[in-house]
Amino acid sequence: TPPVLEVRDLQRHFTAAKGTVRAVDGVSLTIGPGEVVGLVGESGSGKSTVGRCVVRLDQPTGGTVRINGTDVTTLSRRALRPLRKDFHLVFQDPSSSLDPRMSVRQIIAEPLRLHRLADRKGAAEKADALLAQVGLRPELGDRSPHELSGGQRQRVSIARALSVDPSLLVADEPTSALDVSVQAAVLNLLADLQRERGFGCLFITHDLAAVEYLADRIAVMYLGRIVEQAPAAELFAAPKHPYTQALLSAAPVPDPEEQRTRERIVLGGDLPSPLDPPPGCHFHTRCPLATDRCRTETPALRTLPGSTREVACHLVTDDGTAPDATRAAVS
Ligand code: SF4
Ligand code: MG
Repeated sequence: TPPVLEVRDLQRHFTAAKGTVRAVDGVSLTIGPGEVVGLVGESGSGKSTVGRCVVRLDQPTGGTVRINGTDVTTLSRRALRPLRKDFHLVFQDPSSSLDPRMSVRQIIAEPLRLHRLADRKGAAEKADALLAQVGLRPELGDRSPHELSGGQRQRVSIARALSVDPSLLVADEPTSALDVSVQAAVLNLLADLQRERGFGCLFITHDLAAVEYLADRIAVMYLGRIVEQAPAAELFAAPKHPYTQALLSAAPVPDPEEQRTRERIVLGGDLPSPLDPPPGCHFHTRCPLATDRCRTETPALRTLPGSTREVACHLVTDDGTAPDATRAAVS
């Protein structure tokens, strides 16, 4: 079986008054059936744009997106329509994507009707079953989405996305607009449903704890490019790219004692603009290890021999030896 998602050299450039914005600048990633890939990075790194290009809310300006082996990059909206049941996007803020004139039951059932997968009665029954599966009481089916809490609304949008059994779910910060108190519950729900149903998932987030919990593999984005990609456990055990090291060292750890003693990198400056990104390694303006070479020569994203890890840094050697940016920043 082909991968549920195969993205090759994806680009999303657009022209602004001051020049070309390279929001996504050559991203490649693959998601196998039932696999969860976490896409992490600061806000402005281009990760949401990757998600929007995958589901064709944004049109890529280069590269290809294949879903279950079919190249959907340049399909017309019309040709894309029947394929849309295979991939769904769950947004950060569900309020904007749930029609307030419809009942919760109608919202969940709508994709089934659009794709002619059920008649009115069958769709309503399936919607009720889905309500239960996402942990909502049956009587909520008659309500309007604005009568629900944020957490309940996100459960509804998950139920709606899963109604047609997609093989790919793109979840863009699905919990970050919710109260902290309900974030974990919605995340657990997503993890349970993914295990039960086995859909592939592109999980876009800046929440490292969430991605460590959910993802099989993690891709780290910086200014429109992936700088490191590895199995989640490997990435957390030994981040190789200086930017990944910085991200992980800045993440809060549950044990306050460890937090205090851990070496931390404080990244200097803000994320540069994707309009005219720095030449060479995009990260060189903030990397404590940058050399002259980094300022002119772009490091290729390459797979380290004998592993499935990809990393784009001049200082990481083929045997996986990597510099320790945390030490460099402290000394
Ligand atoms: Fe830092 Fe240079 Fe590696 Fe870029 S290539 S991450 S600037 S050491
Ligand atoms: Mg975003």
